[in-house]
Amino acid sequence: MTLKFATSILTPSYTRRPDFKSHESSDKLFAFACSFCQRPVTVEYASLINRGLASEHDLGETFAADAKSFYGMSVVGKSPDGGWPSMTTVECSNCKTMFLLYAGVNEVANSVYFVTMQGITELTEDRAS
Ligand SMILES: [Zn+2]
Repeated sequence: MTLKFATSILTPSYTRRPDFKSHESSDKLFAFACSFCQRPVTVEYASLINRGLASEHDLGETFAADAKSFYGMSVVGKSPDGGWPSMTTVECSNCKTMFLLYAGVNEVANSVYFVTMQGITELTEDRAS
């Protein structure tokens, strides 16, 4: 079973403002509506910051490479906001739909992080393969 990229709720942008600033944002969770059941799906910004470069390993090299080309990530591996890309998968707790999240993480000062959400994509199982 492999995962296929389905509908994107959010696509990368060079002009998007950070969703999270670690020194001033009080909301520690990023939330979006599940594209299937509309329930909120949440992920902690801290987990996106902490995953950082490990995310490619966690996703598996092949899937991470597919995700990079799907999002048009630059060869040098920077996200459009200039940060490093952090990717993770999250499941809707209600309907079990899987999503791939892609965020740009910028360390703007020592231990001060800006997180800009750059991609949310519904994943489906490719049963043909
Ligand atoms: Zn759902």
